Parts: sequence; C-alpha cells; structure tokens
Amino acid sequence: MEDKQDIHTDIVIIGAGMAGMAAAVFAANRGLSGVVVGGAGAFEYSSGLLDLWGLTSPETGLCKDPWQGLARIPKYFPSHPFLKILESDIQAAFDELTQGLTQSGLGYGGQPRVNSSIMTAFGTAKPTYRFPLTMANNVTALAEKKPLLLLDFKGLREFRAKFVQQVLKSSWGKINIGTVDFPQMSQRSELFTPLMAQAMETEQVQDKLVAAIKPLIKDEYFLGIPAILGINRSENILNRLEESLGIKIFEIPTSPISVPGIRLKETFQKMLANTSVTRLPDQRVLLAAHSPDQGFVLETGTPSNPRTTRIQAKTCLLATGRFLAKGLVADRKGVTEPVFNLPVDQPSDRKNWHGKTYFDPRGHAINLAGLVTDENFRPLGRDNTPVHGNLYAAGSILAGQDWMKTRSGAGISIATAFKAMGHIVSNHVKTSS
Ligand SMILES: Cc1cc2nc3c(=O)[nH]c(=O)nc-3n(C[C@H](O)[C@H](O)[C@H](O)COP(=O)(O)OP(=O)(O)OC[C@H]3O[C@@H](n4cnc5c(N)ncnc54)[C@H](O)[C@@H]3O)c2cc1C
Repeated sequence: MEDKQDIHTDIVIIGAGMAGMAAAVFAANRGLSGVVVGGAGAFEYSSGLLDLWGLTSPETGLCKDPWQGLARIPKYFPSHPFLKILESDIQAAFDELTQGLTQSGLGYGGQPRVNSSIMTAFGTAKPTYRFPLTMANNVTALAEKKPLLLLDFKGLREFRAKFVQQVLKSSWGKINIGTVDFPQMSQRSELFTPLMAQAMETEQVQDKLVAAIKPLIKDEYFLGIPAILGINRSENILNRLEESLGIKIFEIPTSPISVPGIRLKETFQKMLANTSVTRLPDQRVLLAAHSPDQGFVLETGTPSNPRTTRIQAKTCLLATGRFLAKGLVADRKGVTEPVFNLPVDQPSDRKNWHGKTYFDPRGHAINLAGLVTDENFRPLGRDNTPVHGNLYAAGSILAGQDWMKTRSGAGISIATAFKAMGHIVSNHVKTSS
C-alpha cells in the first residue's frame, strides 16, 4: 500500500465548486497557504454567467437593478447571507474574481451597477451581472434587435435555432436561420457542444466553419451561435471568425454540460497554478476532526483508494454545496451536514418542506435550509456561538437563501467566500504576530 501523504497548511477548503474555488483564489491572492479538496461542483452544468441577484420580489419577478433587489432582501429573506456583507464588499468580490478570470484569459464583462440581459437557448432573456465576453454581442443584439442570423448544426440537440426564432419573432424584425454540418463531424448522428468546442481550437476547423457559414450571410448584422467557440481561447476564436465573416458574432449559452461552464472551471484551475494554494481534485474529505493543539485534521481519499492524504490545517472553510453535491444529506428524519455534523436549520417537519404547487411563487421552505453562521460566516452550534473559532462556511450550503429562485448562484458563493476570507486573513495576521 502507498504511504499516506501528509500536508500541513494554513487553510483547507472542502469543495471545489464556485464557492470553494473563489475562496481558493482569494486565499492565494492574500498569500495564505492552502489546499482545496473536491470535485468541480456544478461548474460544468452552469451557464458560465455570474449572477448577483435577478429578482425584484417574488411577486413582481426579474429585475434589472440587482442592488435594488438586494435592498428588498430583509422583507423576503430575513436571514439571508447577503445581509452580513457590505454592498461595497459584494462588488469588490466580483471585481477581484472577474479581473483574475480576465487576466487568466477568460474575459468577463457587464455594466457597472446593473444586470445585463442574455439571450438563452430557450429564446428567453436571462438577467445576469457578469457574462463572458463571447456573449457581449448577445447583450447588444437583444437590446438593438438588428437583423440576426441564428446558426443551427445538424445533429446538435442542445440548441434549436427554430425554437429561439419562434419565441423571439414577435419582438424582432428579422431573424433568419442557417444550418450547417460541423466540420469533420458530418458522419456523427449526434453532436455535443464540448466536443465541438474542443475541435474549434484548431484553425483548420475554424476555417472550414467560416467557409460553411459565409454563403448563408445576407444582410444580417449579428450572427448568434451556440456556445462552442473553443475551450481555452474563446475570445481569439470569436475575433478570428468575426474578421473572416465580417459580421458581429455572439455565443448563446446552452443547457448542461455547458462549454462556458467548462471554461470557467479550467480557468479557475489555471488561476491557482503556481500559487500558494494547491488542489486535490477528485478526492473527498472522508473524516474530519478538530483538536485544540492540532487544529483541523482531515483524511481524504477516493472511493477506490480511501484515506490517501492527511491534511492538518489551522483553518477550515466548508464549501460542500447542497443536496446534489452531498454537502447536505436528507433522509426520513431530516437534513444533516455530513462532514462535521453541524446543526442544519430546516423546517420542523418533513411535510413542510415543499409548498402546495411546484411553481409556488414564495418558493419552498427546504430551499432555505442550511447552515446558520455568525457575521463572519462561522457556523453556529446549538448554543448560538461559533462551533470553532476557525471553521467557516460559504456558498450554497448556507441557510436563508434560495439561489435558484433569486438568480444569485455565483453571487452568494463569491461574496460569502470573500467575506469569510477577509476574516480568516485578519485572524491569521493576529495569531501570527
Ligand atoms: C444547472 C445549473 C445551472 C447554473 N447556472 C448558473 C448561472 O447561470 N449563474 C450563476 O450565477 N450560477 C449558476 N449555477 C450555480 C452555481 O454554479 C453554483 O452551483 C453555486 O454557485 C453553488 O456553488 P457551491 O460551490 O456552493 O456548490 P457546488 O457547486 O455544489 O460545489 C460543492 C462541491 O463540494 C464537493 N463536496 C461535497 N462534499 C465533499 C466532501 N466531503 N469532500 C470534498 N468535496 C465535497 C462537491 O463534490 C462539489 O464539488 C448553476 C447551477 C446549476 C446546477
């Protein structure tokens, strides 16, 4: 049997989804040594859009100004995590992260204080705070509604231009549809966007696609295509295609598994390369304990090779997500948190988990279940004080928020990781001096 690896570090982050990776980047930027343990979370399912807040109120629906939406939180979500963070810190968290992504080759854009509307593969407009730059013309096209060519690929089921056209045609003067074979894949009965994006990394495939699209362009101003423009150099590929075709191009986010989500995951990994934070991908924390002299002691492993690594850290940040990610576990008796067995705030009875109808505008009580924390995101015990002075939590595991309903997935993860990391750093400086 191989020897167990032993790691001593300042901070261990459990979970490598949006919250865990944002925390890892913030830790690296502040010079902390750290380890982030876990798989890639919901990245590959996410659209690559970074939402802050998309709901004015449950009654009135989607909003343009996320800050106005946030101002109404106390009325609708009285114990929401955003209420523990200054507005200026939420903005600083977004700025630090999107600047880092942009410097690592994945440009993000957006207007200073408002949401932008992005055309989805359903033909709907989704409000989001920050979007990949390959979708910048998507925002402009949706606002200007100039003549548009939507591109379909034979064999691609994730995107139907006809469907988008049907939904948008009453509000848009001219939307034409063009259909092409994807280069070098015409023999395949079904196409998948990640495979197409990989192929788009070569100039040979880009040139063949340009040749196929050119005859379809008439007098359109915009060309909309499903998000397939490469994994690593998407903006370069878009610029190259725009130059060759002489038309403004934009990507439309598709359903999972999504190429912009894969780009986001890979860029986060790039941001951590050669920093003070290392990754233990595809491992899970199997045992966790805390003692006053050793701090946090964690055993991690994979299903085929349990307990491969022992991590000792002064500080721990739990970013293990909700039910799908197994950060929270539900059974007949209720909801539990499996790593530290922390108390989970939840409806008193299972029959109160869900409202009467699936689309209940008030949402479902179970979606607000999670960990209750102090102002610095340290989970509270049954006595209402932090369970450990150096144990923190961030992201969708937190109680009092319903990220799906309020269109705030990335925002909650990024902002809570930022605030927790600020406190971790100040604690670290205090105890080291
Ligand atoms: C289909 C879909 C679409 C989305 N679209 C958007 C969007 O358009 N805009 C937006 O802003 N957000 C979107 N999101 C939300 C966003 O991607 C994140 O899900 C959200 O920010 C929550 O992130 P998280 O890190 O808290 O949890 P997760 O992403 O769930 O990550 C938790 C991680 O912890 C790991 N973990 C759990 N237990 C352990 C353990 N014991 N040891 C090690 N690791 C562990 C899990 O394996 C997982 O990798 C979408 C999510 C989904 C599912």
